[in-house]
Amino acid sequence: MKTLSIDFDGVIHSYTSGWQGASEINDPPVPGAIKWLAKMAEKYELCIFSTRSATTEGREAMRKAIARWVFESDLSDEKAAHLMGTLKFPKSKPSAWLTLDDRALTFTGVFPGEEQIESFRPWYKRENDLGQTTVGQRIYEALQGMPDGATIDELVGQVLPRMIGLSTAECVDVIISTLNRLVDAGYVQGAGGRYCAPGPKPVIWDDL
Ligand SMILES: [Mg+2]
Repeated sequence: MKTLSIDFDGVIHSYTSGWQGASEINDPPVPGAIKWLAKMAEKYELCIFSTRSATTEGREAMRKAIARWVFESDLSDEKAAHLMGTLKFPKSKPSAWLTLDDRALTFTGVFPGEEQIESFRPWYKRENDLGQTTVGQRIYEALQGMPDGATIDELVGQVLPRMIGLSTAECVDVIISTLNRLVDAGYVQGAGGRYCAPGPKPVIWDDL
């Protein structure tokens, strides 16, 4: 069985509050994370490996958080228990077929330059074509221009043309997950399949 090494913060844990300590895990999972873990566990050995892995407290905190999300998910109790029984939490870097991380570049044989390193942004902070505003801010601005609210499709239509460097499918994933963050953070209201942006303009975009 091939091994996947999966980062925790910014991949499984949405990490909207930033680093608060090795055993502090207070944000919700990234949308789709648990379903994805359950599917991948059928074919791969899954190792959750993070900077938190260095201590027993950190590994136990990740295990507990994932268990909570798994048992709260749509998975049957039997599948949830099976998933938790197969997930591994190694304390040192596993020998992995592939690594999934929000802060990494794929090495192509060409070493990245300083500019490429400095301009890197994780998926939830990816900049748009203006190089200044985040996807969250772009969504919020689009919603302000749609006073009756917008469906996800309308929102994707507005925001997608402003995003570069990603495939359409990747853009749609980023837009939808960012929208969920905005809703969770109370910046956007969603009802009946429509979304609107009430209240004062958010100021702490880096948190999203
Ligand atoms: Mg990370």
